Amino acid sequence: MAVVVLSQVNYRTGKLRDIAATTKLINDHGAEVIWDLAHSAGALPIDLNGAGARYAVGCTYKYLNGGPGAPAFLYVHKDVQDGGWQPLSGWHGHASPFAFDADYAPAGDISRFRTGTHSALAYTALEASFSLWAEVDMQALRDKSLAMSELFRECLADRLEAHGIKDMTPATSERGSQVSLIDSQHGYAIVQALIARGVIGDYREPGLMRFGFAPLYLSFEDVWQAAHHFRAVLKSGEYQNSQFHVRSAVT
Ligand SMILES: *Cc1c(COP(=O)(O)O)cnc(C)c1O
Repeated sequence: MAVVVLSQVNYRTGKLRDIAATTKLINDHGAEVIWDLAHSAGALPIDLNGAGARYAVGCTYKYLNGGPGAPAFLYVHKDVQDGGWQPLSGWHGHASPFAFDADYAPAGDISRFRTGTHSALAYTALEASFSLWAEVDMQALRDKSLAMSELFRECLADRLEAHGIKDMTPATSERGSQVSLIDSQHGYAIVQALIARGVIGDYREPGLMRFGFAPLYLSFEDVWQAAHHFRAVLKSGEYQNSQFHVRSAVT
C-alpha cells in the first residue's frame, strides 16, 4: 500500500491543508496518509477524529513548548491500532513486558507503538507544559495566533516592496501560525541580523524568511518589537555586514 506523509501546515509557505478533504482523497485512491503535525500541535485546534484521520505524528518541542529533547508523539485511530506495526519494537510495547517471553508479541492497543524506557526528565518538562495546555481554549489561541501574524505583516507592509521582499503568507483562513517572506538576495543575511537582535526567525532556500508565532506565551508587544527590529535592520542596511553572510549549518 502507498503511504503519503503530509505536513498539515506547509513549513515553507505556512499554508494549512484540509485534513478531512485530503485524507478522503488519498483514502479514495487506496492509499494511507500519515499527518505530520509538527507545525500544528499547539498552534491551532486539530480534530483528527472528526477529520477521519487514522495516523499522525509530531514533535513537542515547537509550539507545545516541551523544551530541548522533548519526546515525539504518535496518533493511531482506535480502529486500526491492532493493524499497525512499529518496526522499532521494544519491551514497553510488548503485550506482557514483564513476562520476558522469548518471542515478541505486540500489545493490542496504542501501547504497542512504544519502544523502551523513555527519558523521564524530558517527560517531566513536557508534563509541566501540558499542565498549562490543559487550561488553554484552542479557539482563543487560534484567534490570537492569527491576530499576531496579521500584526507582524501590517507592521512591515509599507516597507517590503521598496526592499524587494515578497509576502507569500496565505490568507488567514488557510494559514498556520507563521509569516513567510521571500527575499532571494538578502533573506539569509536579514534573518541573521534579526537573530543578532534577539528576533529568531529561520531561513530556507530559496530566499524564504520564516517567522513562527507561538501564541501561548508571546505577547502582541513582542510581535510589535520584532517588526520594529525588522524595520530597523532594513533601514540601517546592517544585514550587509559581512558577519551576517557567513553560512552556518543551521539557518
Ligand atoms: C520539526 C519537524 C519535525 C520533527 O522532527 P524531529 O526529527 O522529531 O526533530 C517533523 N516534521 C516537520 C515538518 C518538522 O518541521
